[in-house]
Amino acid sequence: MNEDFLQFVWRTLSFRHTHLKTRDRQMLKILDPGIQNTDQGPDFLDARLRIGAHEWCGHVEVHIHGDEWFRHGHHRDPMYNTTILHVVFEKGKLPAVRLDGTKVPEVWIGTLLDAGVRQRYDALRKNMGDIPCQSLLGTVPPEFVKPWLEKLARDRLFVKSEDIRVRLKESKWDWGQIYFEQLGAYFGGNLNAESFRSIIRQIPFVRIRRHHERKELIEALLLGTAGYLSRKVLLHPYEQMLREEWNYLQSLYKIEVLQDIPLKYMRMRPSAFPEIRLAQLSDFLHRYPEPGMFLEPEAWQKLLSHPLSASAYFTDHVRFAQVSDSPRLKSTGPEFLRLLIINVLLPFTHAMQWEHGHKQLKDDVWFFYHSLIPEQNRITRLFHQSGVEAEDACEAQGIIHLYKNYCLKKRCLDCAIGKYLMTGGRISVQDI
Ligand code: SF4
Repeated sequence: MNEDFLQFVWRTLSFRHTHLKTRDRQMLKILDPGIQNTDQGPDFLDARLRIGAHEWCGHVEVHIHGDEWFRHGHHRDPMYNTTILHVVFEKGKLPAVRLDGTKVPEVWIGTLLDAGVRQRYDALRKNMGDIPCQSLLGTVPPEFVKPWLEKLARDRLFVKSEDIRVRLKESKWDWGQIYFEQLGAYFGGNLNAESFRSIIRQIPFVRIRRHHERKELIEALLLGTAGYLSRKVLLHPYEQMLREEWNYLQSLYKIEVLQDIPLKYMRMRPSAFPEIRLAQLSDFLHRYPEPGMFLEPEAWQKLLSHPLSASAYFTDHVRFAQVSDSPRLKSTGPEFLRLLIINVLLPFTHAMQWEHGHKQLKDDVWFFYHSLIPEQNRITRLFHQSGVEAEDACEAQGIIHLYKNYCLKKRCLDCAIGKYLMTGGRISVQDI
């Protein structure tokens, strides 16, 4: 038994809660158990109770043992002055009192717990797998799971958008530069995200915007900063042209070359090699040089239908200055573009709208999000095998958020699916 479980029991009223009596034998009726408080102070705020002949509105504190009220010093703490009920598993020696000495009504629920809830809770806690409820997931009805995934997808988007807003604040609201950095980190992928960020921090975004009409100039800026154009011998006319442009731009803007930047190539397809990704990023910035170009879904639709391509030079080069045996256009696949939208452009759009006073994405943008194909990865496959399948990108993001923030942290008591399973389905969609 722990306090989190007891709070869950109170929140979901998973105990025999009719005909309750307080410690001093007054009738107690729960009209509303209140809102769980994750900050300092009592565990539940704004509960509504009928005690005896009177209706009360105030806070509720939950403890395993009644004496914890005193051990935690609540009898000396003014924050507990408006506590209207002390809920305990086991009775303490003395009744709880407030700072002014008045008694707090107390109820013991140790003998009233629903045995099924306790068993299901123990079963989930004992399962140490990545998804403790894996064997039961398929029994939760989709009409219950889907609104929960939708909420989690919104939470995930909010977290990403908040990260962008923190970066924006640190940059003194330089939207262009943060847009550039977020894109860079995405194009760098898991292995090269930080290196790409370092490259991009050397180049003020205003320079990119100024030269955006000529893709090869953006390529020269990115490849030059990354050190590709500092080699002694460059034979191909395109390589020489890039070097000339770079030499001019570097002396004009005083950009530092990152000679020893650790760019990685391990286990990558050639189309994901760092210089190819920098060239594809150049194509993106050439076509979309303003962060505000993605406020409408039509822009994303356009992006999806026109893959990003590295310059023609890379078609017969496997790496910079290294000729390929099998020429191939180095362009982005549909999955790369979808994830670019989900991981960068949607959060960025959310952050922009947030700063303009709109706390949610517009409906047409959300609708577009739902129209995207779901991401296939280890997590979505794990849920699919357990009976929960993402039907679109939004649901897949909800699953990823659920897994990382609830399943792995064993937060089943806070999860709507966990509540459904532990209460044996006695919870409605409105309670999510
Ligand atoms: S957090 Fe939710 S989905 Fe994850 S294991 Fe627990 S109950 Fe299942």
